[in-house]
Amino acid sequence: MERKNAWKAYGMEDMAAVEELSSLYRRFLDVGKTERECIAEAVNTAEAAGFRDLSEMIRGRTRLKAGDQVYLSYMGKSAAFFRIGTEPPEKGLNIIGAHVDSPRLDIKQVPCYEEAGNVYLDTHYYGGIKKYQWFACPLALHGIIVRKDGTAAAIEIGEKEEDPVFVITDLLPHLGKERNEQKVKDFFDAEKMDLLIGNRPVEEKEAKQHVLDLLFDKYRIQEEDFLSAELEIVPAGRARECGVDRSMILAYGQDDRSCAFAALTALLGNTDGKADSDPMQDREETAAVGGGFSRTACCLLVDKEETGSNGATGMKSRFFENAVAEILALSGGQLPGNAGEQIPFELRLRRTLMNSRMLSADVSAAYDPMFEKYYEKKNSAYLGNGLVFNKYSGSGGKTGANDANPEYMAQLRRIMEEQHVTFQTAELGAVDQGGGGTIAYIMAKFGMDVIDCGLGVLSMHAPWEVTSKADLYEAVKGYRAFYGFCR
Ligand code: MN
Ligand code: MN
Repeated sequence: MERKNAWKAYGMEDMAAVEELSSLYRRFLDVGKTERECIAEAVNTAEAAGFRDLSEMIRGRTRLKAGDQVYLSYMGKSAAFFRIGTEPPEKGLNIIGAHVDSPRLDIKQVPCYEEAGNVYLDTHYYGGIKKYQWFACPLALHGIIVRKDGTAAAIEIGEKEEDPVFVITDLLPHLGKERNEQKVKDFFDAEKMDLLIGNRPVEEKEAKQHVLDLLFDKYRIQEEDFLSAELEIVPAGRARECGVDRSMILAYGQDDRSCAFAALTALLGNTDGKADSDPMQDREETAAVGGGFSRTACCLLVDKEETGSNGATGMKSRFFENAVAEILALSGGQLPGNAGEQIPFELRLRRTLMNSRMLSADVSAAYDPMFEKYYEKKNSAYLGNGLVFNKYSGSGGKTGANDANPEYMAQLRRIMEEQHVTFQTAELGAVDQGGGGTIAYIMAKFGMDVIDCGLGVLSMHAPWEVTSKADLYEAVKGYRAFYGFCR
């Protein structure tokens, strides 16, 4: 099997597009360090590209027609973006779904305490973190605090150059004798991973009270307001280019915001990375090469994947199904050829979902020669070798995997080759070394073809993850090809 490296095929034009896309991507990562921030940014970008709020069209009972671009945001933490095709929705949608939540530490409801003169916020980790990676590095606080009267304060501390940052302190090596003998799983006490946020008493005021007063002055919030807050601790700092050759990106949250960004960018038509490119012109170009958006295309961004996709904004919620029902209802007439028979709406919805195709856009583990025994070389993703297809995920005998059909994979291979997308196939590590899941199996429940497909990542789930600029470029190209050409 020949393994193609994406970089080797690039001419000057591609290189310029790779760089432009990469800088837009880094900006997206910088403004979207929580699921809320990501959805807000995605909605802004879509609106700037001409997408309209579907909820307004639902209220106004506005009919949808081919070429319409609409979105539905849900609780500010998940959203679906649709480009209506020329075919009726019942023929099926081409869906690319990614998640916008990332592993992190959350702040507890009653978090603030003072111990030995230090002020802390108590935390509860979110998703699969390696605890040791979060000690002794600069951290930022993002989120919202909703006051009792329903008004909210948006919090972001630690990202601007002049902002203070926070830290979880570690034990000095000089006193590490006993701990060096312990197993890693016993080593870190999640209850002792609290965020240091202050140390200064002022006159008769203790340090904790001083910190709370500062928060009140700035945000008009009181200690009780932490009860109704959603505060997340993330690594402080911006996405950076990585390597002497600047071929990679080092940033927080690339699982799965790399795929989220690529899926949205592909839908908006900016495959060349140009924010100002005209999506309608792209449509004509796409149509001209024979694909067009005959099928309705959908970019789906969801929350809560890292904790099992539960909750109203996770993939297991009915949010997406409801959104498709709304699209169907506003799209008017049922398929012709039913001899005047009224097909129940519920059945039409089931058919729409079943006839859909999906890329579960999520990252894969890139082969890491520093940890070679955990991978199987032939079936690993390599940084720079393009978009990764994971036919199945799961662990211990594919358990939990949706395992895509070969008929579907064959179609995707054909599309990728015809559209000159560099792609590779992989498993998430060697057999019996662990495993993982995505949202693929949840969407597969509707009876639609689904396959996992995304970027390879080094140091996945670490505070700073590594991706390749070339893989991002191929992902946008590949996702675009899928929206336009999958049947
Ligand atoms: Mn993921
Ligand atoms: Mn993950």
